[in-house]
Amino acid sequence: MKINELKGVGSKTEQYLLSLGINEVKDAIYFFPRDYEDRNNIKCISETINDEFVTLICEVSLILPTKKLKFGKYINKIIFKDNSGFLTGVWFNQPYIKNNFQVGERVILSGKITRKFGEIQIIDPQYDKDFNVFKSINPIYPTNKNLSQKILKKIISQSLLHIDTQISEMLHSEILKRYEILPLKDAIMNLHYPNDRATLNKAQKSIKFYELLILQLCLLQAKKTSEENKNSFSIKVCREMKDFKNSLPFQLTTAQSKVVREILTDLKNIRPMNRLVQGDVGSGKTVIAAIAMFNCAMNGYQCAMMAPTEILAEQHFNTLRKLFGDWNVNIELITGSTPQKQKRQILERLAEGDINIIIGTHALIQENVDFNRLALVVTDEQHRFGVRQRAELVNKGHNPHVLVMTATPIPRTLALFIYGDMDISLINELPPGRQKINTYAVRSNLRERAYNFIKQQILLGRQAYVVCPLVEESEKIEAQSALETAEKLKNIYFKEFKIDVLHGKLKSTEKDNVMKKFKEGDIDILVSTTVIEVGVNVPNATIMLIENADRFGLAQLHQLRGRVGRGIHKSYCILISDASNKETKERLKIMTETNDGFVIAEKDMFLRGTGEFFGLRQHGLPELKLADIIKDREILKEAQELSKWIIENNLLQIQEFSNLKNEVERLFFEKLNKHTFN
Ligand code: ADP
Ligand code: MG
Repeated sequence: MKINELKGVGSKTEQYLLSLGINEVKDAIYFFPRDYEDRNNIKCISETINDEFVTLICEVSLILPTKKLKFGKYINKIIFKDNSGFLTGVWFNQPYIKNNFQVGERVILSGKITRKFGEIQIIDPQYDKDFNVFKSINPIYPTNKNLSQKILKKIISQSLLHIDTQISEMLHSEILKRYEILPLKDAIMNLHYPNDRATLNKAQKSIKFYELLILQLCLLQAKKTSEENKNSFSIKVCREMKDFKNSLPFQLTTAQSKVVREILTDLKNIRPMNRLVQGDVGSGKTVIAAIAMFNCAMNGYQCAMMAPTEILAEQHFNTLRKLFGDWNVNIELITGSTPQKQKRQILERLAEGDINIIIGTHALIQENVDFNRLALVVTDEQHRFGVRQRAELVNKGHNPHVLVMTATPIPRTLALFIYGDMDISLINELPPGRQKINTYAVRSNLRERAYNFIKQQILLGRQAYVVCPLVEESEKIEAQSALETAEKLKNIYFKEFKIDVLHGKLKSTEKDNVMKKFKEGDIDILVSTTVIEVGVNVPNATIMLIENADRFGLAQLHQLRGRVGRGIHKSYCILISDASNKETKERLKIMTETNDGFVIAEKDMFLRGTGEFFGLRQHGLPELKLADIIKDREILKEAQELSKWIIENNLLQIQEFSNLKNEVERLFFEKLNKHTFN
């Protein structure tokens, strides 16, 4: 049922509702309050104190005419009274408000009290005249300036009249009893209109339980589906493997060798590999992918490797080409900016099976890309790809093996969540000779000293990154700021040095060009936006200066910092920030204290919450409206227990659980042809 089928929802209101994500009546039913006003604090006017949140029952005493202020603003005042005194209600820019009141009428007001100049005011209070529906706990919805609480509330309460046709119960009453949760409809009703605190708490717990249960079911079902998959790609370790490993420019670390063994074992299986390799920045994941792909290629199969940016795809292409050296491996690169003609040729050769390994960006998951014998899909820096995108690529072959590599250090409990359908390998060791990156958080008045330090490094033959502030949502402004910074550095501080700029607005050939020059040492200082965040590998770069470091998340700073300290030279990172906020300072301090991505991730999560740390939505999972994986881990445990029982006993297939199954499909599987279950 569409929201505009409700009475009183015209096209304008419909628009406003849409901006809140409400399109259907069901969305309104699931549009939960962000907070509640406790109206238990009922007082008479004279008892109120400044800044206190109260509910008052009073009589309309006088309605003053609308007063016009400067800049076309309006102010309305209405005087209320009770036996103890007078109260001024104040509304800004709501001239119609006076039509809603009549002198002598009794109303319920709630809001915050301001006492000043001997006057008692209540500014923009909630009001109600219906004493029958008066509830002691009043919901407050997250809304915007276009849609008042009052109107939104009306629409939601109208929508709730349809709850019986819109929402179906998902769990049997015995299960509800066991986990002490409310039937879904009761939980929803009580979340909107709780009778008391205890019921509200129970309703909140119940909704969290439903959310976590569905999320768990999505993950378990995905895992089960992938475990039941079979392919015909049982890939033995090739004869050439030993020689190939010996031809590498370095010896694998113990951790790398262990992961390689795990992967080669997986590849032999007819159950497709579904493995996540987690390893901190610089731990050497690329070579692991190279070995896996080499093995497939030598067995006559095709591989695809997907990277989140063109720069990174290009870099992988070059690295791998070098590693494969004289071996008979056909490797090609395809990105959004590969010229049409060349692209067509590559695609033809790919379809014919002439290319063994294809590297690319998400252009690889476009529809017109066909493979001949695709047996392995590698995605690098997976945190930029969602579960869905991964699945789309998998759908290109016949259940190929999947290898996912990420440097986003997620603590194990959470990793199980996000990658619940995968086996996890950990590279818990860095290649030998790596040194701690010395990190300093300083205020901007020390910038010149930092520049001098950069100068010294360059004179020693090293190179530097200067990272410009993050500008959310505007690549253009970000690019501008990078250009300006580069100009300034060129003209003022670093006249005798070679400076160039890298940002998202450059054409990809230009980007490649800059990266190539930087790699070859033709650029001393690379001024860049966050486009260098992931993967970029220039071992001679030893110093990074990050402007407005406070704008970045810790995980992101860690990624950025990982661009230095990749070679044999001592490396440095300077974080510039003038933020005085205590939490921000604490976050930057963590960066100076440790180089361990996992420690950083954990601390970041405690400071900012899991929501900030990873968007479930970004990973293609249903969004959690109320539940938090960390804070609600007790509820999570129960939901996990139930979901495990449901999946292990195949209960989604039976009538009793069909509503639950529909919901899981609706939220997660409906877009994946392959991953639906029957
Ligand atoms: P990441 O895990 O961040 O993707 P890379 O694969 O880019 O790391 O590797 C970082 C650097 O470490 C590269 O220059 C790579 O050649 C080098 N490297 C990888 N493994 C080893 C090793 N076992 N010994 C020495 N250097 C290594
Ligand atoms: Mg990498």
